[in-house]
Formats: sequence, C-alpha cells, structure tokens
Amino acid sequence: MHKRGLTEEEIFSYLSLKRGEDTSHDYILSSMCTVPHPVAVKAHNLFMETNLGDPGLFMGTADIEQALILRLGTLFHAPEACGYATSGGTESNIQALRMAKACKKKHRPNVVLPESVHFSFRKACDMLGLDMHTVPLNAEYRMDAGDAAKAIDENTCCIVGVAGTTEYGMIDPIPELGEIAVDHDLFFHVDAAFGGLVIPFLEHHEPFDFLVPGVSSLAVDPHKMGMSTIPAGCLLVREKEMLCALSIDTPYLSVKQEFTLGGTRPGGPVAGALAVLDYLGTDGMEAVVQGCMSNTWRLIEGMETFGFARAVTPDVNVATFNAPKKVPHPWRVSCTRKGHLRIVCMPHVHRDIIEKFIRDIGEHHA
Ligand SMILES: *Cc1c(COP(=O)(O)O)cnc(C)c1O
Repeated sequence: MHKRGLTEEEIFSYLSLKRGEDTSHDYILSSMCTVPHPVAVKAHNLFMETNLGDPGLFMGTADIEQALILRLGTLFHAPEACGYATSGGTESNIQALRMAKACKKKHRPNVVLPESVHFSFRKACDMLGLDMHTVPLNAEYRMDAGDAAKAIDENTCCIVGVAGTTEYGMIDPIPELGEIAVDHDLFFHVDAAFGGLVIPFLEHHEPFDFLVPGVSSLAVDPHKMGMSTIPAGCLLVREKEMLCALSIDTPYLSVKQEFTLGGTRPGGPVAGALAVLDYLGTDGMEAVVQGCMSNTWRLIEGMETFGFARAVTPDVNVATFNAPKKVPHPWRVSCTRKGHLRIVCMPHVHRDIIEKFIRDIGEHHA
C-alpha cells in the first residue's frame, strides 16, 4: 500500500486504463456470461451494501431472495421448492453433492455423472471425497440412460444430469434418469446452470425440472441467460430437509443456523436477478431466448456454407463446429475438450455481430 492515499483522479485513470484492456463484449463469443440487463444494474446498485449472510439484519433483501426462489421454483414446476442464491453453478453443484452425501449415507460414496459435466463437479468430488463414475456420451453428446444405470453400484449416492451442457448445449434424458434415480433411491441433481433460463422458453422441450419425479435439486444461474449482474446462481431443492442436512450453528449472527456455503453474500445480484425476471416476464424471456436461438441457427447455416460442419445440432444456444480454432482478431471463441470450435450465442451477441463474424470467417478462409 501507499503510505499516503492517492487522489480519485489517479485511481480512476488507472482503473479505466485497465478496464480498457479487457475484451469488449462486441467480440466475446465464448462466454456464458453477458452484459447485464439495465434493470439488473439499477437493482444491483440499490442493494450495494446488503449482506444476505445476515438475513435478520437485511429482512427486505432476504424477502427478495425468497421471491426469486419462488419465481424460479414456479418456473420449474415446484412453487413449494426451497433454495437460496449462490455465487453460481459451481457453488450450487458443490452444495448439491454435499446434500446427496449427507442424505444418502454410503460407506465409500460415489456419483454417477456424464462425461459432459462442468468441471465444477471435479472440485466438488475432490472436496467431498466422492468417487466419480463417469458415463460416456452417445453420438449426440448426451448421457445414455442405460449406461448410467450400469454405472450405479451399492455405494452410489447421487446421479447428475445436465440440462444444457456447457460445451455442446445438449440436454440429457432427464425423465429416464429420474426413473433410474427413483428405482435406485438416489439423490438426483439436475445441472441447469445454463439451460435453466433457456429451456422453459423454447417452443418445444422435454421435461427437465421438478416435473420429473425423482429430481431432488436443480442449479440455475441468473448471471448467465438471466442477464443479472455477477455473481448470481440459485440452488433449488424439492424438500427443505435436504438443505437442512447442511445446517450448522451460527454463534454470532441474527439467525441461529445456516446451510449456505458462503458466509457474507451479496444482495445486489439477487435483486438484479429478480428485477430482470419481473421486468421481462415470460413474454420477454421468450423473445430473448428465441432471438438467441435464431442467431444460433443463422450462425450454423453461415458456417456450413464455408464447409465448417456443426459438431451436433444443439438443444440450446451453444454452437460447435469442425473448424480451425484460429479465428481473425479480435474475435474470441473457445474450443471444446474434443477440439471443436465453440460459440455461445448470448443476448449480447446480436444478429449484426453474427453476420460480421460470418463475413470475417469467410474472408479469412477464402
Ligand atoms: C456455467 C456452468 C457451471 C458453472 O457455473 P459458474 O457460475 O461459472 O460457477 C456449471 N454447470 C454448467 C452446466 C454451466 O454451464
């Protein structure tokens, strides 16, 4: 630290300089985060100093968190679902596996999950001492339910399905996995961190949420397709007892017990998440999602005219290609573990951005 403080001008000229070195969202085609909705920013600013870790002090903010859980629970066909706002999919997935381990006690517990799971499950299993029984994907990059059933043994406590995979945008067969979970008395977690705020607004989709018997918990990230400020995730559970399995005593807070992973938790992104859902309503969310999907189809069509075939036809707005990983500057794309070029058509990736990218790719490879 400096002995004497700097002036605001010095500080902000440095901060602006550094912010200018960040990539502009106009060129970010690789991220599941997006530019927050203006309504989310406004709500976030109003809740800047709130701490959801001490809900007895911030009763209003705590009510907003519960309203967000109710909105999402209702969207996922379980208005009575419980839950809380996490820092994102990673925390939601860690907590889901913690619940599974606590609720289904096994001698040497393991988790059955698809090869396509997000890497946060590796962190979770490492921390919780859970073995990973990884199920390979079928030709469409989905988990095969038959293979999942075969991977279960007497020490399996949990099965995981993904509704909108991070790399390929595919939805696992949640109804079939739900039956398997019920048959084997397993905890069943659905990772809908990305797809949770896409799938309900698609024209056609299979059940993927609490409508499916056997689904125990679900992760969804408002800071992705919910266009909230970062960090905003949510973990929902069908039964409150599941969350209570994580409760520990809190000696000095306004509440006696806590089941969250984080202690101090921001209210701003939570208010932001609720504000966006209420501002847009289902009509507005449908419009956003349908826009992202139509951009996804246009991108696939455009890339295929240059001979860059899709890796798979996605269920949600993630497009993957058999194409060179190098794209013209300053575009930012990503690459899957299997080596496909990957582009996420988030709300900030407008149609004119897609058209500009397709033109650039065409010229680059001409
Ligand atoms: C993004 C994502 C995660 C991780 O979420 P963070 O908010 O980055 O912690 C987990 N699972 C899936 C399917 C995701 O798309």
